[in-house]
Amino acid sequence: MARLEIHQFPCLNDNYGYLVHEPSSGMTAAIDTPEVAPILAALANKGWRLTHILNTHHHFDHAGGNAELKEKTGCMVIGPKGEKDKIPAIDRAVGEGDVVELGAARARVIDVPGHTAGHVAYSFDEERIAFVGDTLFALGCGRLFEGTPAQMWTSLGKLMALPDDTIVYCAHEYTQSNARFALSVEPQNKTLVARAKEIDEKRARGEWTVPTTIGLEKATNPFLRAASADLRQTLGLAAASDVDVFAETRKRKDNF
Ligand code: ZN
Ligand code: FE
Repeated sequence: MARLEIHQFPCLNDNYGYLVHEPSSGMTAAIDTPEVAPILAALANKGWRLTHILNTHHHFDHAGGNAELKEKTGCMVIGPKGEKDKIPAIDRAVGEGDVVELGAARARVIDVPGHTAGHVAYSFDEERIAFVGDTLFALGCGRLFEGTPAQMWTSLGKLMALPDDTIVYCAHEYTQSNARFALSVEPQNKTLVARAKEIDEKRARGEWTVPTTIGLEKATNPFLRAASADLRQTLGLAAASDVDVFAETRKRKDNF
């Protein structure tokens, strides 16, 4: 197992930027490029040289800094195969099962369409660290801009299959408003009630609620809890399929 150093910092209104550093090789990857100046500042502050950009999807708050960062650092840009025409300055297109090496560390590419048609996640399986972009959020999931509920449900299932102690880095700080919605659809979930209180306390202190873990999300995130009797009762879908419960949950959140 490689040692990885993760540096997290805010970008734009509510995005997080991430640098992943593998010390034995000195290689450093930016996970998405929401905003150039904070990424360059973070690199300078850590004394790291940018060698890779790993894009999760094509939205501007994820790939908008690609061209300028590549020009300034000469880094290699890696992004989803399904969106290669929309990813600025892309050098290598990757999809399900591909491996991206960062020095001694290896990230496995997982196709997670739904938010966008070609969205990918990067899982450092050995280190139990996953970067999921706008697919899974703390207590939420991405809006379905380019995919169907069935696609997104399958994508979330792939992430749920990761070990419970996998640390999940998502791209936005949306947790507090997600918690309000989660409580509205699964009010009896004691773990969720406790987590929502903790989130409010953290935000009141100006602290981040990201990263999270797969285990915590499975226990509290309504978008992963289609099997929950409490959720099904709220939605009036006692006998529906999991994907129909997920679809209705997503629809309610869009109108919450
Ligand atoms: Zn997005
Ligand atoms: Fe985003």
